[in-house]
Amino acid sequence: MNYQTPRGTYDILPDEMNKWHDVERVIREKTALYRYHEIRTPYFETTNVFARENDSSDMVNKEMYTFRMGEDSYTLRPEGTAGVIRAFDQHKLYGSMEMPGRFYYMGAMFRHERPQKGRQRQFTQFGVENIGAKSPELDAETIALGYDIVKEMGISSVKVCINTLGDDASREAYREALKNHFATHLDELCADCHRRYEQNPLRILDCKIDHDLDCMKAAPSLSEYLNEESKEYFNRVLSGLDAIGIPYEIDERLVRGLDYYTHTVFEVVSTRPESGAQATIFAGGRYDHFVEYYGGPEMSGIGFAIGLERLISLASEEGHVFEEDAPCDAYVIGLGNVADAVLKSVQDLRHNGFVTEGNLIPRSLKAQFKSADRNQAKYIIILGEDEVKNGTANVKRAGDKEQITCKIEELMDTLKKWEGR
Ligand SMILES: [Zn+2]
Repeated sequence: MNYQTPRGTYDILPDEMNKWHDVERVIREKTALYRYHEIRTPYFETTNVFARENDSSDMVNKEMYTFRMGEDSYTLRPEGTAGVIRAFDQHKLYGSMEMPGRFYYMGAMFRHERPQKGRQRQFTQFGVENIGAKSPELDAETIALGYDIVKEMGISSVKVCINTLGDDASREAYREALKNHFATHLDELCADCHRRYEQNPLRILDCKIDHDLDCMKAAPSLSEYLNEESKEYFNRVLSGLDAIGIPYEIDERLVRGLDYYTHTVFEVVSTRPESGAQATIFAGGRYDHFVEYYGGPEMSGIGFAIGLERLISLASEEGHVFEEDAPCDAYVIGLGNVADAVLKSVQDLRHNGFVTEGNLIPRSLKAQFKSADRNQAKYIIILGEDEVKNGTANVKRAGDKEQITCKIEELMDTLKKWEGR
């Protein structure tokens, strides 16, 4: 028998964990600064939460982990937004919270994709949803939060690509124009694009298979179909970004994969040549009809999601020094019949705030020193039978080998003095 992680999943082992703790710490600090509140929704929902009518995305059509239990169909969450808005509506938060409601989530998502570099079947996303109000300044501010997090992780080579899909009227006009354009090229397009043609022709422009066809390059551009309000809205988003010094580039081809976006859509990409053609770090946009879809009032929202695996790997590539987890302050060594005394001082040290390891197994003195060394303990406390009898302890400072003998009740004060506490 051979036991392995399922394809597309991976273990995060303890020696990699400080990277995760570091990025999670940055996220919690930044979201707190921006007054976002964490929300935790279930890892699975009833399938209809994700499989929305008329959704042409690959995610919904091909990649969801769906299972039946009796009569009911459930799906492991492939993304975070749907669950957050479902919760927003279910608990009528639009009535009890100040609007816009600012939410963030962090956790595992599941998509049955073909595993490849940077793409897993279980992956971790952090995302925010700013729901219940609409203003271009909120759009700029939302992008700024993601941008701040990316910068804080030491990723400097980034670019904000931004576009607008316009309001419903502009989008409808553009849809019609695209349908007219592609009507005569349908036989050149892939099978998925045939489905997209019916469900959401905008998504044809995202197709990776048909990307280089002439009919793609000749497709009409959305900007020609924007009405005045939509243009005005977009210009204000851009002037907001200018005001807070966030560099951007308008990318008219950016129509984003998901179907529910209106107005602002954006993608923040790494511009490091080593990370390949435009590796997306985070992406998101504004949505106008999502809240009412799950039974809430007509309200707009904006959000983005960041894949933490990619964020960590880009941060590593750029040489970010991840914060280490708490180091070992003290190590207690026992000599002879002193097991209880060792156990007691280990606990005393911990209760005084020292990260402590102690030798609680039968081992030679040499092995114990080796273990203290391997733990990189700053202070080594040695208890022998004589010391325990006299109520003293030998304390050694690993850094400069300074060694003293002190009364056991003075041990904490001695260490605290050494620590500068
Ligand atoms: Zn296609």
